[in-house]
Amino acid sequence: MSARFPRRGLCLVLAAPSGAGKTSISRALLAAEPGLHLSISATTRAPRAGEAEGVHYFFRDRPAFDAMIAGSALLEWAEVFGQRYGTPRAPVAAALARGEDVLFDIDWQGHRQLRAALPGDVVGVFIMPPSLGDLETRLRARGDAPAEIAHRMAAAEAEIAHAGEFDYCVVNETIAAAIATTSAILHAARAATARQVWIPGR
Ligand code: 5GP
Repeated sequence: MSARFPRRGLCLVLAAPSGAGKTSISRALLAAEPGLHLSISATTRAPRAGEAEGVHYFFRDRPAFDAMIAGSALLEWAEVFGQRYGTPRAPVAAALARGEDVLFDIDWQGHRQLRAALPGDVVGVFIMPPSLGDLETRLRARGDAPAEIAHRMAAAEAEIAHAGEFDYCVVNETIAAAIATTSAILHAARAATARQVWIPGR
């Protein structure tokens, strides 16, 4: 951030049905943008192979998660696939005040709550797979179990029903184009006059 022209950070929310390519897009943005940090969620679900505490999630048991809710330590939380997921408040508040941006990999429920918790700070991007058939192919390629795939396909249709609540919708025809479009959205949102702390009467 420029010292002469300070701006408030923003919250870039990427939501998508599972397998739509959201993880690849978020990885590419985080690698390319030094001022963009990933919000690490807390969850009650068990770690998958390769997932590490504090890197992919903060893994918490139900009593510890509920204590965070009671203590207002979460900006938002939701139950997804029978498990609880939530966004720790303190790191987000600190980043926005420093003029840095936070990337969120959360679902539509989290997006809706985050907009309510941080009015004006949220830019929501919904990532669409080019077709639901493609989505099923991608889930199979990822090695998910058939029952899990059926469950996630039903959940995908439910997620897509909320696409209209987002500011932007990016159809992931090719990963390179989807990354470029999402990056353009981030850059334009950073330049919004509403974010420029130094502009009088903004
Ligand atoms: P997974 O278990 O596959 O990592 O995530 C399952 C779902 O939970 C995804 O749709 C993901 O976007 C959502 N999710 C992850 N973290 C959060 C969070 O902090 N808040 C909300 N509301 N959803 C989350």
